[in-house]
Amino acid sequence: MAVKYIPEPFRIKMVERIKMLTQEERIEKIKEAKYNLFNLRGEDVYIDLLTDSGTNAMSDGQWAGVMRGDEAYAGSSSYFKLIDAGKDIFGYDYIQPVHQGRAGEKVLFPIFLSKGKFAISNMFFDTTRAHVELAGARAIDCVVEEAKNPSVRAPFKGNMDVVKLEKLINELGAENVGLVVMTITNNSAGGQPVSMANMREVSEICKKYHIPLNIDAARYAENAFFLKQRDEECKNMTIKEIVSKIFSYGDTFTMSAKKDTIVNIGGLIGVKDGNSPMILKIKANCISYEGFFTYGGLSGRDLEALAIGLYEGIDENFLRYRIGQMEYLAGKLDEAGIAYQSPVGGHGVFVDAAAFFPHIPYYEFPGQVLAVELYKEAGIRTCDIGSFMLGNDPDTGEQLHSQFEFTRFAIPRRVYTQAHIDIMADALIAIKQRASEIKRGYRITWEPPILRHFQASLEPIEY
Ligand SMILES: *Cc1c(COP(=O)(O)O)cnc(C)c1O
Repeated sequence: MAVKYIPEPFRIKMVERIKMLTQEERIEKIKEAKYNLFNLRGEDVYIDLLTDSGTNAMSDGQWAGVMRGDEAYAGSSSYFKLIDAGKDIFGYDYIQPVHQGRAGEKVLFPIFLSKGKFAISNMFFDTTRAHVELAGARAIDCVVEEAKNPSVRAPFKGNMDVVKLEKLINELGAENVGLVVMTITNNSAGGQPVSMANMREVSEICKKYHIPLNIDAARYAENAFFLKQRDEECKNMTIKEIVSKIFSYGDTFTMSAKKDTIVNIGGLIGVKDGNSPMILKIKANCISYEGFFTYGGLSGRDLEALAIGLYEGIDENFLRYRIGQMEYLAGKLDEAGIAYQSPVGGHGVFVDAAAFFPHIPYYEFPGQVLAVELYKEAGIRTCDIGSFMLGNDPDTGEQLHSQFEFTRFAIPRRVYTQAHIDIMADALIAIKQRASEIKRGYRITWEPPILRHFQASLEPIEY
């Protein structure tokens, strides 16, 4: 049965015009971009699904806030508005704005991590893993087994494997585990939610071994909406109540505000205990890297838009429409027999590229193959979430074998319409019909040492 499209809880007041290239032009552009979609110019993309990060459409209320932004260097009124919103929603005593999520990681992680230490997460996001490594520590993923099988439908595929977590802590020695990170939703596993019970269990284990628990909270609102739908514990709670309960289990959070708070730039750090000596260190690191702690690398107008976006992002009608877009696209893929991380996650559809191209090995990057084909087919820009993104082992330099080979359709918030979503499904169906004609993948001709997928050059392997 076809999934119904949930109508938008907004109407359009301003539009952005987009260019439409021919297929011949696109084939030339992707070649010039060395088959890396990050090298394309935005204007050469018709539907841009590279990320849902910072690509959101702000509301008229937020744009009005932009005009009201207070640009005082210290103590801006927009700062106070933001920290009031942050304290109200998350229940944390200390809220620190930063310019984006990874800035929060850069400021916070060296306080917990150094050489010889480990950080364990349900699954690290790529920049989060990079900041663990930059602090000198090693990052270990510990997600539940069912997350690794895209066709297994389970409600909480973002969960931490708590048995494995405790075993890991005992093997490594609790004193060597500097931090546990709960990523909600679990981005790299396909925007999959973490259950309330799992948050609680992880928090109990962390307390038992005196390990701080950080929430990587980029998509906390989508996680809360899933909990309202799927978690018995939460079905009679408001989104705001669910959020506040989830956060009550953490000690700190880092957040990319470019996702669920519907702005184009911004991030937050939160510390639950207002008396923690950590706060002084956060302020010191923030002043060195981001700017004075009342603006944290943002302008007053950004702080204002963020304060407003925090509330718009937890609006239940908005979240129902947002998750509804994913479910609508996923429904079309079900009809066409196209595999994806299921059930569909919160911020995008993660298509199983390994199922598309079973004959292409991980070291020829099936996720990247599908991403390039989507651009050629319909001007859609997606990205690889697989071995190409994962990169090389930092100790041996060898290509790592990812648990998944996904091509991610990350859907920007409040940007694309039902017709655009139909184009995404049609493009996938067209590529599926000719998938067996695409015999080989790509080889890397140049790569930087860290976070290589953003910059690497590729070439198709001839056959
Ligand atoms: C986006 C994201 C980050 C990094 O945030 P940026 O704003 O891109 O620096 C960290 N963790 C998760 C889970 C994310 O989705």
